[in-house]
Amino acid sequence: MERTLSIIKPDGVKKNIVGEVISRFEKAGLKVVALKMTELSTACAEGFYEVHKERPFFGSLTEFMTSGPIVPMILEGDDAIKKVRDLMGATNPADAAEGTIRKDFADSIEANIVHGSDAPETAAFETAYFFGKETECAGS
Ligand code: ADP
Ligand code: MG
Repeated sequence: MERTLSIIKPDGVKKNIVGEVISRFEKAGLKVVALKMTELSTACAEGFYEVHKERPFFGSLTEFMTSGPIVPMILEGDDAIKKVRDLMGATNPADAAEGTIRKDFADSIEANIVHGSDAPETAAFETAYFFGKETECAGS
């Protein structure tokens, strides 16, 4: 069993596909073990995407991620990290495989509906970031 963090980004919430995205995870055998709706402060968005802080899109990305409510969740299952990444599709929807969430719903490489942790280390950091007891970004 493995745990990973997914986030339905502000564009996914605005497009009314929270249920659709979660349904795809559940149909793939993943279990939702934590879930909430929250809004990121700029500081929390910057902290979450810290690894990208030198990238030219960092400011735009953090602005996008703070533009509305998001739905972070912890998903559990065999090979959960890879399963979620496969269901999401490539970062750029133009490159995403048929039938993936990003191919079906994303508007751009930035507004791409969904996040998924990319490795066990990032999954541990990211699940704690939203659902740990001691981070300022866990909300209520
Ligand atoms: P992924 O979400 O597929 O793991 P990355 O970790 O590379 O992708 O990037 C994190 C997020 O930053 C992406 O999901 C997307 O929202 C945004 N992003 C990535 N590359 C670009 C880019 N070239 N221009 C604008 N936004 C980008
Ligand atoms: Mg990534």
